[in-house]
Amino acid sequence: MRPDAYYKNIYEIDYKELKEIGIKNIFFDVDNTIIPYTLDKVSSREIELFNKLKKDFNLVIASNSNSNRVNSIINDLGITGYTSCMKPTNKVYKKIIKEYNIEESIFIGDQFMTDVLGAHKNGFKVILVDRINNIEPFTTKFWRFLEKRVVKKIKFEKGNYYKIKK
Ligand SMILES: [Mg+2]
Repeated sequence: MRPDAYYKNIYEIDYKELKEIGIKNIFFDVDNTIIPYTLDKVSSREIELFNKLKKDFNLVIASNSNSNRVNSIINDLGITGYTSCMKPTNKVYKKIIKEYNIEESIFIGDQFMTDVLGAHKNGFKVILVDRINNIEPFTTKFWRFLEKRVVKKIKFEKGNYYKIKK
């Protein structure tokens, strides 16, 4: 259940290291990972990061949402994406396994119960980032309630960031 790496946000991630360990495909959660729930659009800062990363990786969105908002974010970033993923169920991972090599793929997200659990039980590596802010819909609040127990159980320390162990 422990994420393979843990960073404050998507800007702090050592993408060079990901390249070095053979990662070619990065699957991003959207809400509270790329932008907060409260924003409808990505800014030039996100677009700049994604444009830079496009040179080295296939960038793919994997969001549980299927709102116009998430679809337009996928468009604005100029990448592809899976919506209505139903993380942490196996649904989206089964689709992804057909198209991408697991060993060359990594997920990035802000939630233990959806992003980390879902990726790990399907054999994918995952990077946890801190949520951008604490404004979250009811379903996420429910996941956070369960997350608290897990975090305690595995003695995961918030703010104690770490890289992938090679
Ligand atoms: Mg999220």
